[in-house]
Amino acid sequence: MKSLWNDAEAAKFAGPLGLRVYSARLLGRDRSLVLHGGGNASVKLAEKNLFGEEREVLYVKGSGSDLESVEAEGFVPVRLDYLRRLASLPALSDPQMVNELGTQTLLAGAPAPSVETLLHAILPHRYVDHTHADAVLSVSNTPDGEKRIRDLYGDKVVVIPYIMAGFDLAAYCAREFPRQRTRSTVGMVLLSHGVVSFAADARESYELMIELVSMAERYLEGKKAWSVDLPPAAAPGFKRLEAARLRSEVSRAAGFPLLCRCNDSPRFLGFARHPEVARLSQGGPATPDHVIWTKPLPMLGRNVNDFSSGYKNYFDRNSKKAKEQKTMLDPAPRMALDPELGLVAFGRTARDTGIVEDIYAHTIDVILRAEALGGWRALDEGHIFDIEYWDLEQAKLRAAGAIPAFAGEVALVTGAASGIGKACAEAFLRRGAA
Ligand SMILES: [Zn+2]
Repeated sequence: MKSLWNDAEAAKFAGPLGLRVYSARLLGRDRSLVLHGGGNASVKLAEKNLFGEEREVLYVKGSGSDLESVEAEGFVPVRLDYLRRLASLPALSDPQMVNELGTQTLLAGAPAPSVETLLHAILPHRYVDHTHADAVLSVSNTPDGEKRIRDLYGDKVVVIPYIMAGFDLAAYCAREFPRQRTRSTVGMVLLSHGVVSFAADARESYELMIELVSMAERYLEGKKAWSVDLPPAAAPGFKRLEAARLRSEVSRAAGFPLLCRCNDSPRFLGFARHPEVARLSQGGPATPDHVIWTKPLPMLGRNVNDFSSGYKNYFDRNSKKAKEQKTMLDPAPRMALDPELGLVAFGRTARDTGIVEDIYAHTIDVILRAEALGGWRALDEGHIFDIEYWDLEQAKLRAAGAIPAFAGEVALVTGAASGIGKACAEAFLRRGAA
């Protein structure tokens, strides 16, 4: 992986927050580092308040924005000393944490600070970069992933076991990071979740991320687990009627209309026809926050009823163990692997289906590399359920706004190149039709 840092481009971004915006966008530009709302970045600045008193402020990317397109306004200023005190509490519930983050924000009307804010706060470094890099996940999502990560990085990183993002993860890191860090420490690996780098300087922190990810890439290459080819798979030709039938059945299971996007590229078809697809695809996502877009597992083939009853069983098994009462989301799949259609992504908007497709393209890479390395192993479903039904994750989806009247529906407008037809097409688009 190459650094995309460019001094001439960076010079257009003023000040330490400007450089934070620039290097956050560089992270976002590489889909093998972060996908659609994943990952995060922050910077700590000393600023004076209206009384001339100096205070430390953490600027952390707010929930709901993408690193790739983040603006300075997308970074929320929060009181740093208070956040650090919060992380030292013995316990804090999610609603309390959200409330505290909200009340310690220094700009009225700013977006909600990320659920990973406390993690950024407890690290002493000025710049903190966090990604869900494919290469690091490929190494860590294996049966002996922790050992591999330790062998690969030595004391360059502090290794943190999987803990759900939020207060518990930050509190654990606040205790463990100072205990485990050495003079060589430049990052932290969050097993089955992602990787963090940090430094006093924006470029250094970003380039340390690139270095850590490159080390994982070279490690995979060395073990012949970097480019994993699938046998060539020829597409049988697009089966329009069958795709339409599938879309109808999935929409019925969801209880609302969903769009479907079929991709029969050799990679998707090859994976859908993989002799071990049932085992490889039914482990879980590459990193837990994908679940809000993709649901925990893809449907294999086209049996929507089987998928839905499997999903209901998964909900029943796991909701019993939850602290609060949970309400089941719709039981329809968001993706299917089919030997003829390839990857079929479902979503309420064309953008949503694109996100699902992107995520699964990267998931396939992570699965195949981990498998070549020593066996793909996803997080167990209890952890995935906790994220899927975590109110703070669902809030990311709600932040997308109200669902327009024709979401999930397809409008066919004849004569749409000009005049009334064009106006109709635009009106349908505004109301959410594809
Ligand atoms: Zn994360």
